Amino acid sequence: MSFFDAFRHDRKIAVMGGTFDPIHYGHLVAAEAVRDRFQLDKVIFIPAGNPPHKNSKNITDSSHRYNMTMLATATNPYFEVSRIEIDRKGITYTVDTIKQLRALYCAIDELYFITGADAVLEILTWHKVEELLKLCNFVAATRPGFDLRDLEQKLHEIKSKYGKEIFHIEIPSLAISSTDIRNRVRSNHTIKYLLPESVEQYILKYGIYRE
Ligand code: ATP
Ligand code: MG
Repeated sequence: MSFFDAFRHDRKIAVMGGTFDPIHYGHLVAAEAVRDRFQLDKVIFIPAGNPPHKNSKNITDSSHRYNMTMLATATNPYFEVSRIEIDRKGITYTVDTIKQLRALYCAIDELYFITGADAVLEILTWHKVEELLKLCNFVAATRPGFDLRDLEQKLHEIKSKYGKEIFHIEIPSLAISSTDIRNRVRSNHTIKYLLPESVEQYILKYGIYRE
């Protein structure tokens, strides 16, 4: 994000946070579906620096994850990639990222944070969750057929505890995960059509997920 981005008039923005190790069509379809449903001006992909919930030793170098996210989003004029979490030192919390974005984009009046349903189920354990829920809306993405009972109970719990509605959106045919893609590369299986071809070629070029 450059200095001038702060002065753009993007009022409705979504943030798609993730490790993106690697980014795949699950992330891209979810982001585009949310943009379409809420008529957003922009979706900002924010690759995680040092995520508090994952063992960072096993995570691919952030420069590769950033490059892959850039390649995957390059053809969508609404998509943008931010380095704010990658460039921040130490453990990164979503609440800090959201605050930083709100400071950078003065024009924001609606901010959405996109997560998979798995992440929403854990949201009450997140750092400063109450403040976070005040700063942005959450959209939980699930695939059709996902058992909604746990999710609905959790959404109900969040609503009664913090008075905050969490949106829910169904994403068709997306059982794709980065874990599965990494395992496929490691065991010499195809990853075609699970992620953009540019990202597939990048993974092959640099031998990522081989060892
Ligand atoms: P890993 O398998 O390493 O956990 P992942 O595929 O879940 O990776 P992340 O980078 O952890 O990808 O996910 C970033 C965000 O995207 C999370 O909120 C996650 O729940 C969501 N997400 C992941 N896969 C999908 C998918 N297939 N459809 C919709 N959302 C997804
Ligand atoms: Mg995940």
